[in-house]
Amino acid sequence: MDWETLLKAYPTQTDIILGVRYLRERVENAMAGVDAPKLDGPCRAMDDLGDFVPVIAPACALAWKDITGASPSFDMAEALKSLAVEGDTPEMAQADRERLEAIAQNAFSRLLGLLREKNPHLIPQEWNQGDCPFCGTYARIGFDEEDRRTLHCLSCGHSWRFPRLRCPSCGNADYTTLGYFEAEGIEGVRVHFCRECSRYLKVVDRKVRSAHDAETDDALTLELDELAKKEQFS
Ligand SMILES: [Zn+2]
Ligand SMILES: [Zn+2]
Repeated sequence: MDWETLLKAYPTQTDIILGVRYLRERVENAMAGVDAPKLDGPCRAMDDLGDFVPVIAPACALAWKDITGASPSFDMAEALKSLAVEGDTPEMAQADRERLEAIAQNAFSRLLGLLREKNPHLIPQEWNQGDCPFCGTYARIGFDEEDRRTLHCLSCGHSWRFPRLRCPSCGNADYTTLGYFEAEGIEGVRVHFCRECSRYLKVVDRKVRSAHDAETDDALTLELDELAKKEQFS
């Protein structure tokens, strides 16, 4: 993430951005010692995040202690498990819950990246779908370069080629129900939508827009997500 660019783009949100950056850095620091396991099955890692709790729980506890100055008063592995499996945390104060969710999200994302680097043999060469062939997350952003489009997974960092004239969510290739819009002030990014499944994808035109990483471009174009949602796309 290009934090300097983000701070410049959202001058009124400085405190929030610095808070997010601080937490991310603490988690990455704690995750530096984590050794991602080698996997043998076909991996759709997002389906099985609960299985990886033992791998990241010590790092999450370390990050918690680093951030708050005290060890967590709850069992980190148990809390992560219920977050990953049930989508909820055990009973705790609201501020703690939010901190735990932010730590867990960063740690799982970092882990997915590490798993992907460790297990390239699990990624199919040919992949014609909009969900990530490694972790199963749907792509929210893609890039057009020359005449090729690549989709990018914001969870694990994998990119893969995808046909331009097809909806990555449902495979619809009927141009009468596919379309796009742009927003004033956001150069070189279009929201491509599909009226069949009501989903959308942000696509960055590399010819027009100078190169940021996918995460930064995603964060710089949140206004487009707002507009898409207003149009009932998800
Ligand atoms: Zn992925
Ligand atoms: Zn569709």
